[in-house]
Amino acid sequence: MQVQDNLNQIYTEIDSVTHDRPTIIAVTKYVTIDRAQEAFDAGLTHFGENRIEGFLEKKAALSQAVFHFIGSLQTRKVKEVINEIDYLHSLDRQSLADEIQKRAEQPVKCFVQVNIAAEESKHGLAKEEVIDFVQGLASYDKIEIVGLMTMAPHIDDQQQLRGYFSELRMLQQQIAGLQQHNAPCTELSMGMSNDYLSAIQEGSTFIRIGTKLVG
Ligand SMILES: *Cc1c(COP(=O)(O)O)cnc(C)c1O
Repeated sequence: MQVQDNLNQIYTEIDSVTHDRPTIIAVTKYVTIDRAQEAFDAGLTHFGENRIEGFLEKKAALSQAVFHFIGSLQTRKVKEVINEIDYLHSLDRQSLADEIQKRAEQPVKCFVQVNIAAEESKHGLAKEEVIDFVQGLASYDKIEIVGLMTMAPHIDDQQQLRGYFSELRMLQQQIAGLQQHNAPCTELSMGMSNDYLSAIQEGSTFIRIGTKLVG
């Protein structure tokens, strides 16, 4: 399928549940630069990659696009990418925050990653840890906490998925309510190919779509 056709289908589905379209991040980690270019030509301007090599390669090819690093980031690799990215979706530990504070030349827009269903296999803070973590970063002037990110479990039960997304939204609102100067926390990065409609119904502002869009 052409990216444009997939995109039209996704927009139709989005418009059936909301009047307020979230930003679509085209996740291009599985595909070639040509396919990413096709997504750009279809009008998509936000791109997501989860590995440093793929990230730098796509960024070099699509210099006009906005780039999101969505994969887990090793502390020792921070210096290679932190000044290349527009958004980091995987801030999930103190050591990573310390390294960003040390290496970033400008404030970096970060999502705090939350393991909302407490899955063994997933990265992210436990939901109970998030508020303390954010408050502990109040003096970090190189970190701007724009929102929360999660990867939901790979299940089909949309009601259960909505429950997880709703929990993330409540946590996001709680953090926004702290009015911490470097943590506006207005955004929610949630929803992938198999669950984006449920995520949007719970207020997602960024959806990260790979398979269904460019796969
Ligand atoms: C791969 C990936 C996606 C996209 O997944 P699809 O199911 O292909 O849409 C979204 N978010 C993260 C963090 C990913 O690693």
